Amino acid sequence: MKYLKTITLELNSQKCIGCRMCLEVCPHQVFGFENKKAFIKNKDQCMECGACDKNCPVHAISAGKGVGCAAAVINGMLRKTEPSCDCGNGNGGCCG
Ligand code: SF4
Ligand code: SF4
Repeated sequence: MKYLKTITLELNSQKCIGCRMCLEVCPHQVFGFENKKAFIKNKDQCMECGACDKNCPVHAISAGKGVGCAAAVINGMLRKTEPSCDCGNGNGGCCG
């Protein structure tokens, strides 16, 4: 299952020490592992839960929690408003 566009997930491979924690905590198998380092394999499956960001011991990952399209859609449903992450700028994104 793929999720809406992820805007915050970044991995700095130069900082990565290969502990594999991100692979363990990610609920959607977003990360792969090769040459003793993690890499982003399936960015589109990220739901921006923030678990990898929180658990990486060297802060090599940045993944905003509660931001991006998924959060915008959920917040829109809760507030009964349109999603407002501005990903599409009217050109076909989830909020376009
Ligand atoms: S948790 Fe951080 S240090 Fe560990 S493998 Fe993932 S990116 Fe690398
Ligand atoms: S934010 Fe959550 S879903 Fe996205 S890569 Fe990190 S652990 Fe996986």
